[in-house]
Amino acid sequence: MIIDYLLDFVFPPRCVICGELTGYGSGIKICEKCAENTSYVENDWDYTFTLRNKAGKHVYFECGKAVFKYSFVKKSIERFKYYGARSLGREYARIMFNYFENTGIFEKADCIVYVPISKNRYKTRGFDQAGYLAKELAQISGIEFIPKGILRHKDTVPQNKLKLHERFENVKDAFSIGNFNFTDRKVIIVDDIFTTGSTINECARVLKKSGAKEVYFLTFAAAGENLGSDEDV
Ligand SMILES: [Zn+2]
Repeated sequence: MIIDYLLDFVFPPRCVICGELTGYGSGIKICEKCAENTSYVENDWDYTFTLRNKAGKHVYFECGKAVFKYSFVKKSIERFKYYGARSLGREYARIMFNYFENTGIFEKADCIVYVPISKNRYKTRGFDQAGYLAKELAQISGIEFIPKGILRHKDTVPQNKLKLHERFENVKDAFSIGNFNFTDRKVIIVDDIFTTGSTINECARVLKKSGAKEVYFLTFAAAGENLGSDEDV
């Protein structure tokens, strides 16, 4: 389409992962170099390991999945999150949809919510990255998007500044349900990164408490000790 062609000149296509130019009109979203080094989270990765075995927590979500290992997309996520590269969010959502489509999760779930950032962070950042992802993903998958399904009413400290047990304390009672009836609903929680699972588990807890039947999560990246690193996420 002519509009895509024109847009290419205004916003030359860049690799979603490393940000390098991929060439006018190429339509390429991931450059050759990144495509060769793609690092996905293993299929048998246990997202509940830290929650159950290290923190001794009850797990409130049924299951979930992330696409990439955080180390592979760290720089890209920073561009998306801190420099407001929103076009990246659209690409992330497309990648997530394609990657998760065969898991059957979009048939199982009937609505999508996200982990909101705090009001203060929203003021400085200007947009909510997980909300952006969730909205795009809802649009692509055709699943109902609940913009204020989960509310954050505690201005929590960024989780990457905290030790494991502090992360759980930090998010405890930080969330509540918005003006929506989740009774018997099957909900997908969307976030950009899964680390210990403390935040998503807390959101899943309030959803279950308010009557949600099943809770899943989908994230763009995952990081943590079990992924062989002590990445500062
Ligand atoms: Zn690249």
